[in-house]
Amino acid sequence: MRKAMTRGGLIACIAALLLTEPLAAQPDHWADWGEPTPGPAKVIGTHAAGCLAGAEALPLDGEGYSVMRPSRRRNFGHPSLIAAIEELARGAQSIGWPTLLVGDLTQIRGGPMKSGHRSHQSGLDADIWLTPKPSPLPAGAWRENYSAISVLTADRSAIAQTVWTERHAALLKTAAEIPAVRRIFVNPVIKQELCRTAGDERAWLSKVRPWWGHHFHFHLRLACPAGEADCVDQPLPDPGDGCGADLAWWFSEEAEEAAKGPPPDPVTLADLPEACRPMLAGE
Ligand SMILES: [Zn+2]
Repeated sequence: MRKAMTRGGLIACIAALLLTEPLAAQPDHWADWGEPTPGPAKVIGTHAAGCLAGAEALPLDGEGYSVMRPSRRRNFGHPSLIAAIEELARGAQSIGWPTLLVGDLTQIRGGPMKSGHRSHQSGLDADIWLTPKPSPLPAGAWRENYSAISVLTADRSAIAQTVWTERHAALLKTAAEIPAVRRIFVNPVIKQELCRTAGDERAWLSKVRPWWGHHFHFHLRLACPAGEADCVDQPLPDPGDGCGADLAWWFSEEAEEAAKGPPPDPVTLADLPEACRPMLAGE
């Protein structure tokens, strides 16, 4: 026979639930939050020290794209980022890129990640693979296991002509021409290839900036959305195609030395704007 709970016992039980529920919902790390903060989307801080309220999820499959590594739970962004990826996926279809593979965006509340990125904190950054979706799909958990293919040679000194195609260049141009996109980061060798092959129409090249790595994927960064007063933008890239001295530096001894330097200190909660702290720490 089930023992009926006394009225007092029931009240105590509810009280205990009310007391423990907020603690139970607070994760050890902000990467583990289960839900976005309620309310409208809002970017707080910079791409590399910030957070995101009211994040939107990028569905795992949409018209012309698929999301990779969903177990990382980094497929969240500001609605303007979700819209830009959808726009890029449609543009990719129109240049004959099979299907876009999308890597990390932002955590469900933004903020620093446990691994992998310095930026991607405020809901305005996304990694897009330079490898299209394979067809037929590999067997098994392909989203978690399939690897991107570098577009550079094994020593990273040149474009791998067996991998790189005109469609890679067209995809980067399509991305750069999305008005909301502020910058795109690619490996210096990729930028060099774009500079060499772009022809007369070069305005889009100013958004495509060299950075270390970025030969398996490129990084798409949006400007602050209109009206977001707490969003801090990176200054505009220098005007011009960025194919001159800017690019040459990346092939200098100085750049080689800089690459060997110690990694920057990790960003902690204390480095973030005040408004991020309760959102991430659950205070
Ligand atoms: Zn990135």
